[in-house]
Parts: sequence; C-alpha cells; structure tokens
Amino acid sequence: MASIDNLMTPDAIWQAVLGELQLTLHRPVYDNWLRDTSVVAFEDGCFLIAVRSAFAQDMLATRMKSMIKQRLQRIAGQSVDVQFVVRPETVQPAMPDAIRSPLLQNEQTPSDNHRSSSAMGVAPGLIRTMTFDNFIEGEGNRLAHAAAQAVCQDPGNHYNPLFLYGGVGLGKTHLLHAIGNHAANAGFAVRYVTSETFTNDLVEAIRTKSNVAFRQTYREVDVLLIDDIQFIEGRPGTQTEVFNTFNSLYAARKQIVLASDRPPNLLSNLEERLQSRFGGGLVADMQPPDLEHRMAILQAKAYEMGRVIPDETLRYIAERFQSNVRELQGALTRVTAYAYHNGRAPDAHLVREILGDHNEYLDKDPAAILQAVSDEYRISPAELLGARRIKRVVVPRQVAMYLMRELSQMSFPQIGEYLGGRDHTTAMHGHNKIEGNLADDGELRAKVERVKLRLYR
Ligand code: ADP
Ligand code: MG
Repeated sequence: MASIDNLMTPDAIWQAVLGELQLTLHRPVYDNWLRDTSVVAFEDGCFLIAVRSAFAQDMLATRMKSMIKQRLQRIAGQSVDVQFVVRPETVQPAMPDAIRSPLLQNEQTPSDNHRSSSAMGVAPGLIRTMTFDNFIEGEGNRLAHAAAQAVCQDPGNHYNPLFLYGGVGLGKTHLLHAIGNHAANAGFAVRYVTSETFTNDLVEAIRTKSNVAFRQTYREVDVLLIDDIQFIEGRPGTQTEVFNTFNSLYAARKQIVLASDRPPNLLSNLEERLQSRFGGGLVADMQPPDLEHRMAILQAKAYEMGRVIPDETLRYIAERFQSNVRELQGALTRVTAYAYHNGRAPDAHLVREILGDHNEYLDKDPAAILQAVSDEYRISPAELLGARRIKRVVVPRQVAMYLMRELSQMSFPQIGEYLGGRDHTTAMHGHNKIEGNLADDGELRAKVERVKLRLYR
C-alpha cells in the first residue's frame, strides 16, 4: 500500500475517520453502511474503501462522500480522494467459502454433503427485491437480523428452526426473503410459502391424490421458509402435515425458518408437539424501530426512490410513524409522490400539509373511518352499525374494525362499542380476519388501500 506524507498508515487514518463518524452519525447509519468497511488500497492520493454491498456503496458515494473526504483530508493532512468498492468477502470472514466465493464451490464443505442441486438463484415464491442489502438493521431487529444471517452461513446447522415473530410491518417477511435470496444465490434449493399457500397446496394434493408430489415439493429443499405460520392455528390437518414436513426436513438437517405474529408458546390453538418443535431452535422477536432506526430506513428508502429529501422532512415523518415500517415507508412515498406531481419541494412545510400537524399518526377519527368505509363500499353507516350479518355488510364492517385499530388509538372494547355495541371479541376477530386476509387477497388489499386514500386525502 502506498504511503502518505504522514506518520499514519492509510488504515490508521481510515480507523480515525470511522471513529469520528461513529460519534457523529446516527447509529443505524453507521452500523449499516460504515461499520464493516476497510481500506483496500491507497493509490494516487485516493482511498479505496471496501464496503459490504452495492447498496452501501451507492449510499456512501452519493450521500456521504464529501463529508468523508473532508475528514480524511483533515486527518491525512493532505488533499485526498475516496472511492467505494463492493467487497462483501472482506467484511464477512465468518462465511463459509462455499457461499462466499463461487470459485470455491467444488471444494467440500460440511454443507455440501446435503445440498441438493438447484438452478442458481432461482426459487419459487421469492421476492427478489427483499434482500439483506436493503434491510436496515437497528436495535429492534438486531437479534433477528443476526440470526437470519447466521442461518445463511450454514443452513440447517445453526438455529434450526429459526422462529421470527413480531407485529405487523416490522420486517419478518422481508427477512424470510432475504434468507431465501441469499441461500438461493449460494445454490441451495429454497422454497418460500405462506402458511395459507401451504394449506391450499395440501388441500389440492388431497383432492387430486397427489400427496407424493406434495411431499416432494416440500421435503426436497434445503431451506423451507413458512410465513405467517399463526394461520395454521385451529387447522388440525395442516398442522399434521407441517409436523411431518418439519420432522423430515429437520432429520435431514435442512433449514426451517418460520415467521409469526406471536411466539410459539402463545400460539394457543396449536398442537403442543408443534409448539415445542417451533420453539426448539432460536426464537427471535422483532420490535418497532426507534427514531434513529426509522431515520435510517427513510434515508435508504428515499435513496432507493432516487429522491433527495431533506433530513428535516424525513425526521418529521419518522417522528409520526412509529410502529410499522410499511406505514413509515408509505408516508414517505405519499409525500414524494405528491411533491412530484404538484411540482413542490418535499420540505417540512409540505409534509405538514399532507400528514397533518398532529404528533401521532394514530389520530383518525372513528366517524371519518366509518364514513370512508361507507363511501368505498357504498353501504350506509347505519348498515355498518346495524345487526345484519350478510357478507356484503360483514366484510366492510370488519374493514372498519381493522382500520379503527390500525389508524386510531381505540381499544377493541371501544371499537366494538362504537360499531353498534358489539363485543370486544367480535372487534378483535374482525380486525384479525382482515389482517390475515390482506396478505393473500389482492382485491381486499386494494379496497383497504382505497379507504385509506380517502382518509388521507
Ligand atoms: P411483516 O412481515 O413483519 O409484516 P414486512 O417484512 O412485510 O413486515 O415489512 C413491511 C415493509 O417494510 C416491507 O416493504 C419491507 O421491505 C419494509 N421493511 C421492514 N423492515 C425493514 C427494515 N428493517 N429495513 C428496510 N425495510 C424494511
Ligand atoms: Mg409478513
């Protein structure tokens, strides 16, 4: 490495800069983009810095380069430049070679013994855009994120099963896909399903007497990812098949990853043997992001959308959307879309206009929600509050229950009371029903989105 007119080595200079940055940047920003970086070379007055991902590379090059350069110059005592290159292998020394470098894939590693051959990087059901690269780590998801990465390093041999749980919109599905994509790229056979799909496949297999094919599909994989496993509660047939699939994969040391809204011991309508299997590996919870984490997520999202949004704007949004990353990102999308279509600057003024001046976003008035549902479904508020239980009314009523819970601070007893004096269990059931169906029912999702649009317009 070329030297510098200074007593410090390039490495020492970079470490000094990192030390400063760690003190000045928000922790998630530092952790996600700078922590695992190192100097690859110092040539012709330019620091070549290795970073973890293409995403980090872009982030640093576009948002932080001049700030980093200034610090480097001050510490190096001379004019220097800085460039970022992607070198994942330099920052993940714990990764087995087979995964780290395709060149080494013919060499035997423990995991090669039980790896099925599969088309590289192609796996059914995977969302390619949900990766570790664009998953922002923070306090609330640190354990889940670390466990997910560990699972990728050696599927089947760490934390089996890995059980992730947490509230809506906190990144469970994202992490499942990130594991799936990573493993698929490393040549493992991967399958991602929701427990609904699993159930449907099973029912179909029984109907067409193709149980053997069903078993092959689910048991001849290296990594099985089942999302929203809570929906197998109260379905004995599915539970038996999940149990058998689980045992077969587990015995073959294949990786199983499950996501749920609750920890295994709170899945009360689940056979005990499954509860104990699910809790037998690592159970990791996912908590809502704190303010700094939310800022980092918004910065990444703004970057992904190719928009320059002032930090002040991002902070305003981050302060108002606290409990759900999907809603947080949605708010940013709304603001940027509005700014774009109306030729306005996405400044704090505009955000206040769009998101309102309240200190919490859980501020929707139940009457407004009722009206929006009524308008969208063309059913009168009186009917929604009434006693009739025909489907045409029941679904919109449940949508109202769902939205009141999600967009106001009402409790289930209050929601039940408001919606025609119903029991709190009815409100809870309605809410959960909609929440559960949203994942798989595109039509319902579109309806709910349109109701929200009415509310936020
Ligand atoms: P869950 O399955 O827990 O309900 P999702 O994984 O579907 O939540 O996440 C909701 C949205 O928020 C997705 O678009 C996802 O990409 C995004 N998201 C959640 N957590 C993060 C994170 N830590 N970093 C980046 N994006 C995230
Ligand atoms: Mg999910």
